[in-house]
Amino acid sequence: PAAPTEADGLPLWVAVETPQHSGLTGPLAYRADRIWPPGTLLRVPLGRRDVLGVVWDPERVDEEPPDPATWREAGAVFDALPPLPASWCALVDFAARYYQRGTGELALAVLPPELRKLEPAGLAQRLARLRKREATARARAAQALPLVQRPEPGADQAAALAAFEAACGEARPKPQLLYGVTGSGKTEVYLRAAESVLARGRQALVLVPEINLTPQLEQRFAERFPGRRVLALHSGLTPVQRLRHWLLALLGEADIVLGTRMAVFAPLPRLGLIVVDEEHDPSYKQQEGARYSARDLAVWRGHAEGVPVMLGSATPSLESWQRALDGRYQRLDLQARIGGGPLPRVRLFDMGVLPREPGGQGPLLAPRVLDSLRERLERGEQSLIFLNRRGYAPVLHCADCGWKSGCPHCSAWRVFHKGERTLRCHHCGFTERVPRACPDCGNQDIAPIGRGTERLEEQLAPLLPGARIGRLDADTARGKGELERRLAEVHAGEVDVLVGTQMVTKGHDFRRISLVVALNPDSALFASDFRAPERLFALLMQAGGRAGRDAAAATPPEMWVQTWHPTHPLYQALKRHDHGAFAADQLDERRGAGLPPFSHLALLRAEARDVDIAAAWLEGAAAAARALPVAEGVMLYPPVPPPVSRVAGIERLQMLVEAASRPRLQALLAQWVPQLQALKARHRGLTRWAIDVDPLGI
Ligand code: ADP
Ligand code: ZN
Ligand code: ZN
Repeated sequence: PAAPTEADGLPLWVAVETPQHSGLTGPLAYRADRIWPPGTLLRVPLGRRDVLGVVWDPERVDEEPPDPATWREAGAVFDALPPLPASWCALVDFAARYYQRGTGELALAVLPPELRKLEPAGLAQRLARLRKREATARARAAQALPLVQRPEPGADQAAALAAFEAACGEARPKPQLLYGVTGSGKTEVYLRAAESVLARGRQALVLVPEINLTPQLEQRFAERFPGRRVLALHSGLTPVQRLRHWLLALLGEADIVLGTRMAVFAPLPRLGLIVVDEEHDPSYKQQEGARYSARDLAVWRGHAEGVPVMLGSATPSLESWQRALDGRYQRLDLQARIGGGPLPRVRLFDMGVLPREPGGQGPLLAPRVLDSLRERLERGEQSLIFLNRRGYAPVLHCADCGWKSGCPHCSAWRVFHKGERTLRCHHCGFTERVPRACPDCGNQDIAPIGRGTERLEEQLAPLLPGARIGRLDADTARGKGELERRLAEVHAGEVDVLVGTQMVTKGHDFRRISLVVALNPDSALFASDFRAPERLFALLMQAGGRAGRDAAAATPPEMWVQTWHPTHPLYQALKRHDHGAFAADQLDERRGAGLPPFSHLALLRAEARDVDIAAAWLEGAAAAARALPVAEGVMLYPPVPPPVSRVAGIERLQMLVEAASRPRLQALLAQWVPQLQALKARHRGLTRWAIDVDPLGI
């Protein structure tokens, strides 16, 4: 019944992916024979291309319609598909404004890429096939018998669930922070909460940091809800699978969507619950393009849709922790480790007491730590050694002339990978075969300095004769199916000592690990990034949580930390498993220094071949900001290089913008960022710029 657009003089607003250099950020005006409802997908011409677009609500468009003579004719409409829900459009609209991206750019970035390739007729056929298959899949899932008996909630779980039920009855439930160590039964609470909303005919969205590291989780949800559709949404799916799961979410066929950060944008017409597991994990922040935080958007989405949000962690981010202290989030504590044994006893080994070896390094393993490893080995228990650096050694060095294996394109060393006989830059990827002799002086005796997981694995072998040593890092997990194969080996007990980077600290439920060793993690204590200690604490707590999950184990679990700074408050809090004390200490420091969560940040990044060009552009940007009346109370810091300042021949600089309040920062960004593209045109040689709101890793 909609009126023809032209007769009314109204355009059809469509969000399309406009290139950044066009300076266009809002939806564009098109001519169509009727006003399609917001959220409708369609094809439209853009420049010389024919692209996918989303009909946008005129209420959400800031611009006045341009001269009707300039409107182009909209193309075919995906009318077999229901429009994307208004709540989805609201989320995209908010995220685009908040993170300073184009509406269409963001909308298209979070739709499954496969959609762009389809014509409406093609999609209609696909939908018909999908609906038929879905009926069969549902029938089959319903036949499967329940595989598990669900456990009776413990006292803390019952209290958390009661609070959850109460929140469900509220129009605007407060987000809940489920605080409990690994094994305290958080997942069990998510399962029960999901069960409760499913029983009311709603859908549940469960976000996890990295799904390929926690394959058991998907299985646990699927087993718990026979007859229900539990679907995954993450970048590990094939493009066709991802499209299929996304369509099932939109059609309301998916009961539970389990996904990584991109899944926060899943269109869910009957959303009833959002869970963010391991809410502190940095991988919730997208680091490219639209740099959004899926955790923060989940909280926004829950509020906008009046849906409860449950954030779970053993080491909540200081942002969430402070909100709980302020009473804006409701904290729900799970005190005990239900499913496993006790938490490991944490012991700090002071490396300072050992004689230094030639070259100033301490020994690989302290004698007592080595003894612990040998004891576990004799008893047939597994151990985990955590070293957050991959490769054989971070740098090769010639003692005669001082040559080091620098990357010619980056301000970084190239890492020595012994197995592949290569020097590889972890920033730009530049790889060469290891030279036989020093490229500068011909000395045959060039030596690795420092240690990565590959070298650790090699050096462990003679110390632990007969031990089966496994390694898990980005290098060994690279091939297809390699990660799964290596994890299965550990689970099957075919590995005695597992060596790995932070990859091994994530959600694996390794039942037989009774000892965790962290090798010299001190560098994070002195990093320039103010969040480095927070990350280290979370990683170490998580690593420790891998030990002692088997309540029936004969010996108590143990964690050794080899450190040069055993009296540091971070390690002292770790020893007591006391996240609260660590958080209080850090929050005091942050308050004193005016850092988040007591202030709000954005980072403007500039890249150019010549660092002076990047500096001049940032100075121009700073001047433009200062000229705005809304800049009052906003601090602009002098541009500085990031820790690795040159990558692939491009120099990088960044400028920090800080405000005491979020609205103040947002008010500045809204007026300032739209000017920056025009400013780029006046600075030849600037390759790229980007704004990062609420940045991580400064
Ligand atoms: P988390 O998510 O905090 O690591 P989980 O929910 O995975 O904890 O629980 C750890 C283990 O304890 C799992 O094997 C789970 O099945 C079991 N478990 C959780 N809650 C209970 C309970 N109330 N009774 C018995 N076992 C439980
Ligand atoms: Zn040399
Ligand atoms: Zn490089």
